[in-house]
Amino acid sequence: MSLREKRIRFTRNLGRLLLYAELAGICVAVDEVKRSKAQAQANAAAGVGIKDSLHVLGLAVDLDLYESNGRWMDGKLPIDRDTYKKLADYWLTLDPDNAWGGSWGDLRHYSLSHGGVR
Ligand SMILES: [Zn+2]
Repeated sequence: MSLREKRIRFTRNLGRLLLYAELAGICVAVDEVKRSKAQAQANAAAGVGIKDSLHVLGLAVDLDLYESNGRWMDGKLPIDRDTYKKLADYWLTLDPDNAWGGSWGDLRHYSLSHGGVR
């Protein structure tokens, strides 16, 4: 499968995830999708990412979730993790290549695996 086809699959899955969040009453904002190679390398050097990030290919999204009062769910409260995981549980049903960063501590990261990278 070509990268183009995977990017289309990823975008289709993201649309479904955003609709699911809305229907579940979860306030969500799209943060970063595409990242330059230079930014990925800088993140890796700073220890906050990997140089082969799927963001460089446009196959990952970082989402910000908010409570209805506007509080950003930064992952420090159990309800935060539960809410990110609720989206992840749905995300993982959409495509066998979908992965969730919560598996390695990055709650906001939802991706479609490519070349062995999640
Ligand atoms: Zn990410």
